[in-house]
Amino acid sequence: MAKTMPDYIKNRFDIDDLTSSLGLLRVIDERGQISQAEAAEAVGLSFGTCNLHFRKLEHVGLIRRIKNISKGRGRSTGIWELDREGNFCLLLLFDVPFLYASLVDFGGKVVLEQREELSGIAESAALEGRIGDFMETALGRAGEGGGRIRQVFVGMPGSVCPHRGIVINSALFPVLDGMNFKALMQQRYGLPCHSLGLGFYHGEIRYLPPGTRAFVLEWNLGVRAVAGVGERVISHVNQESLLSEIGHIVIERNGKPCHCGKKGCLEAYASGWAMIEALGDENVQSLEAFCEAVLGGNSRALEIAGDAAYLLGKKLTWPLQTMQSKRLVVSGPLSKIFPLVRERFVEGLRLIFTDAEIAELNPVSSSDPFAAMQYGAYRCARRQFFFPDE
Ligand SMILES: [Zn+2]
Repeated sequence: MAKTMPDYIKNRFDIDDLTSSLGLLRVIDERGQISQAEAAEAVGLSFGTCNLHFRKLEHVGLIRRIKNISKGRGRSTGIWELDREGNFCLLLLFDVPFLYASLVDFGGKVVLEQREELSGIAESAALEGRIGDFMETALGRAGEGGGRIRQVFVGMPGSVCPHRGIVINSALFPVLDGMNFKALMQQRYGLPCHSLGLGFYHGEIRYLPPGTRAFVLEWNLGVRAVAGVGERVISHVNQESLLSEIGHIVIERNGKPCHCGKKGCLEAYASGWAMIEALGDENVQSLEAFCEAVLGGNSRALEIAGDAAYLLGKKLTWPLQTMQSKRLVVSGPLSKIFPLVRERFVEGLRLIFTDAEIAELNPVSSSDPFAAMQYGAYRCARRQFFFPDE
């Protein structure tokens, strides 16, 4: 529970601005348990200044005193920690036609989880209503012990226009087009909201040896890729980097029209929406249905998926070399069918790579793309909170 704070501290600090306390907060998080004197030394602050930061961080509910250690002769020192159970990230992951909403505490524990079927929703007002219902439940749950939601993360197919902050190109779920989650969360709930571009990367590399030069392909309604060295993403130094737009690299001049308005993009041939279009079956209009068709032995669907996999293998050889990636994981909802078309994917790689290089790359599909997404989203949200400038 937040404590009242004397005026002399309020006057020295802008309570809502945590920027100046973040360095200290990171130290408290990393060390697990720490005294004020140890923290002051670690960040190079005087004990007095450090004490003011501690009081502020306690006031806003980010840290708590867990015990006092006796130092003899009646003196004692307080031991502090990050309040992991009292601070939360809220994740909204659209995996059309479902919305998975979850509330995760700063210790990584999922305390609330809900799956919403969105098929019947045709207007953004209705979608906002559904999100609003979950928000009320989540705010109630977070507030039970006086805790707070710190951030909202939204992951979805399609992309967010960097200039207007609204969703564009959401392909099979046009209700998302034009929605501005940042404004919605800020205006209605006063919460900062970020879009989740790289979540799946952090989720997938969790099982690779630390420091692996990894390349994660998200095979979804669209096609995205992220490359990194262990925890450090190297392909997305900013939003305008090469790999974020890999789905919209033109592979055929004047080719098939793409949702982005261009022609001949990689996505127009190898993405989920392109495969659904190519199959042209009115009963197969979602990724789930497409995967079922492939897994259920629909030979035309399998052929389409195989051709897409071959094309992906062929077109990824260049970015894989540029990023010097040594391992490759296929994530996203379509990773379910990857084992059936892996041979075709490898065939594409083999146009450039040697068998030894392919063996090392060892393309595998995600063991659980949703769990990876959720874990990765939580990692991103937490990192964004502690390192907002990255
Ligand atoms: Zn395109």
